[in-house]
Amino acid sequence: MVSDLFYRSLFDTMPAAASIVVDGVIVLANAACLQILGATQSDQIIGHLVTEFIHPLDLNRSLTRLNKTGSDWANAPSQFRLRDVHGEMKMLLSSSTPIRYQEQDAILVTGMDMTAHAEMAEQLRLSEMNFRRLFENMQDVYYRTDAKGVVQMVGPGVRNVLGYEPAEIAGKTAESYYPQAADRDAMKKAIMEDGKVADFPGQMVRKDGRVIDISITSRAIYDDAGVFAGIEGIYRDVTQRKMMERELQRLATTDPLTNIANRRSFLEQAEHIFKSTQRYHDSITLLMLDLDLFKAINDKYGHLGGDKVLTRFAQTVALELRDSDVFGRLGGEEFCVLLQHASQEEAMTVAERIRTRVQELDFEDPDGALFKLTVSIGVTTNFEGDERLAKLLERADKALYTAKHSGRNKVVWFS
Ligand code: GH3
Ligand code: MG
Ligand code: MG
Repeated sequence: MVSDLFYRSLFDTMPAAASIVVDGVIVLANAACLQILGATQSDQIIGHLVTEFIHPLDLNRSLTRLNKTGSDWANAPSQFRLRDVHGEMKMLLSSSTPIRYQEQDAILVTGMDMTAHAEMAEQLRLSEMNFRRLFENMQDVYYRTDAKGVVQMVGPGVRNVLGYEPAEIAGKTAESYYPQAADRDAMKKAIMEDGKVADFPGQMVRKDGRVIDISITSRAIYDDAGVFAGIEGIYRDVTQRKMMERELQRLATTDPLTNIANRRSFLEQAEHIFKSTQRYHDSITLLMLDLDLFKAINDKYGHLGGDKVLTRFAQTVALELRDSDVFGRLGGEEFCVLLQHASQEEAMTVAERIRTRVQELDFEDPDGALFKLTVSIGVTTNFEGDERLAKLLERADKALYTAKHSGRNKVVWFS
């Protein structure tokens, strides 16, 4: 009797859920059992079939365990999904064992609520899965190096970006993939100074030898003692983007008809050179060119015919210039050339040669008849006290005006 009371109070107060099942019906359940099943009163549980609370997917498995007969078995703990009185799913770690209860064969089922644990494990599994999916599929290349720059880990994105298998990269220094050591050094320096870099530009060589533009975002990693331990980050292939940027830049700065600098780009470059010339007291020469009687060419051969003349004129002038000279189309049939480090004599020689070359050109109209083109050129240089490039433009324009009014097809030096 005493021992019955003892077991009864142990049964009621133990933290694990416990119930006694006779012929599949719950005949006794402790407080922890009511709690796990979401019940507030024992009659929500007592007298009910145990199968009412088992998740359909785990029903077969649990019935096999509960239907065992005899008295010398016990089931090792196993996880089951329950449905509580509110229909909510719980995860139970449960074991069962045969007992005698009130003169009958019965089963003692004990269990622990593992719901929170299972949820955590599931979340962990999901986040690991998400991370893996991201890591395996990302277009960027994840990498980590040690303090010496030896790659310790590299993501599968490297197959696409560099054409290597990750295993071919790991264990080597990242330097091997930089065509210019200076790129790698610049990034390392920036990382050591700021601890990180974002969208840092550079280039890498693919396995097939092709050089690609990359953009790197990385940070320095330090060990527990605060000692530099390496670099971790991602890089991506930005070749397409760079190409598009270059193309946009080209479109924004090039005259579409003649393919030389447009007005804005010419003035920008000229302004830049003018300023550095002022700093170093250097000399520059400005040539202003205007095609002679171009209206008549347009009238005679049409606008398209006129366009062809403009294109051929620009090609002819370009052939007479050096890389350091700037050539642009200011608008219509007006062009400008800026010569650097040229004396008045040299500049006049260049201008005279341009005038002659243009005069020498033979143009053909649609009927096969030949016609000629001439150009007038005004020339000036920078004067002491010129504060702006506009001063030179003004003077070159005046010289050009003089050239036009003294019979065209002339080069005039502003004086
Ligand atoms: P001048 O010798 O005095 O310079 O005589 P001009 O006929 O060349 O006179 P002006 O410079 O005033 O005329 C420029 C002409 O150039 C007028 C315009 O129709 C033509 N033009 C301007 N832009 C273009 C263009 O993009 N294509 C063609 N075909 N013609 C153009
Ligand atoms: Mg003209
Ligand atoms: Mg004109």
